[in-house]
Amino acid sequence: MRRPIVAGNWKMHGSRATVSDLLAGIQEGMAVIRNVEVIVCPPFVYLDQAASLLSETPIALGGQNLCQVPGQGAYTGEISGDMLRDLGCGFVIVGHSERRNIYGESDDLVAAKAIVAHQAGLIPVFCVGELLEERESGETEKVVGRQLDALLETDEGLAAMQHSVIAYEPVWAIGTGKTATPEQAQEVHAFIRQRLAQASRDLAEKTRILYGGSVKPGNAAELFGMADIDGGLIGGASLKAADFLAICRAADS
Ligand code: PEP
Repeated sequence: MRRPIVAGNWKMHGSRATVSDLLAGIQEGMAVIRNVEVIVCPPFVYLDQAASLLSETPIALGGQNLCQVPGQGAYTGEISGDMLRDLGCGFVIVGHSERRNIYGESDDLVAAKAIVAHQAGLIPVFCVGELLEERESGETEKVVGRQLDALLETDEGLAAMQHSVIAYEPVWAIGTGKTATPEQAQEVHAFIRQRLAQASRDLAEKTRILYGGSVKPGNAAELFGMADIDGGLIGGASLKAADFLAICRAADS
C-alpha cells in the first residue's frame, strides 16, 4: 500500500510573517489527518524559519530546487543538497516545469540533480510533464518517457529513482485553473508506472506518483481516487491553510 503524499510548492511566495501564519494554520488542522505524508516547500530563505516552526510536528520540509554539484564550492547563488539536509529538509523538488521552461534545465541536468539529491540523503520529487502543444500533437508519452529515461538509464539514476517520488504535472494545467480530468491524469500515471516496471516491478509497485496542476479542494478527491494517483503536488492552493488541509483530507484513506 503506497502512503499518499500531499506536498505544497510555495514557489516565490511569502514573507517571515506569512510563513509563520500559514504553518500555524496548517498545524491546526493536522490532528485529523491520519495517513498522509504532508510536505511543505517554502523558498530557500524561509527554510530555517520553517524548520524551527515544524520541529515538533509531523509536517516534513522540502526545498524547491538544488545545485547539481554536491557539497560546497564556487557556485554563486546555488544551494547544495547537503545544505538542504543541514536545514532539516527531507525532500527536494527537481525538474519542476518552471525550472525546465523558464531556466532551461535539460533532462540531463534534472537527472543529475536527482542523483545528487539522493546521494545527499534527500528524497527527490522528480517532476515530469508535457507542454500543451506536445499534448495536442500526441507526444505526451514520448515527452514524459524521455524525461523519465534520463534518470532510469544510468545505474546512479536508477538508484536515485528507487528512493524518489514522481510528480506528473502537465504544464498546461499548472497555475492555469485547467485541471487534467481524472481519466487524463490516470492515463499518464499508468504509463509512468509501466515505464518504471520495465526497470523493476518492485520499483513500479512502490513508487508514489503525485499529480500536480490546479489541484483544489473541489477536485482533489476525484483525482486521488484514481488507481495510480498517490497524492498531489500543490502550487496555488498550498498557500491557503484551509485549502491545503482540505486537499490533505481528500488524500487521507
Ligand atoms: C505546481 O507548480 O507544482 C502546481 C501544481 O501549481 P498549481 O497547483 O498552482 O497549478
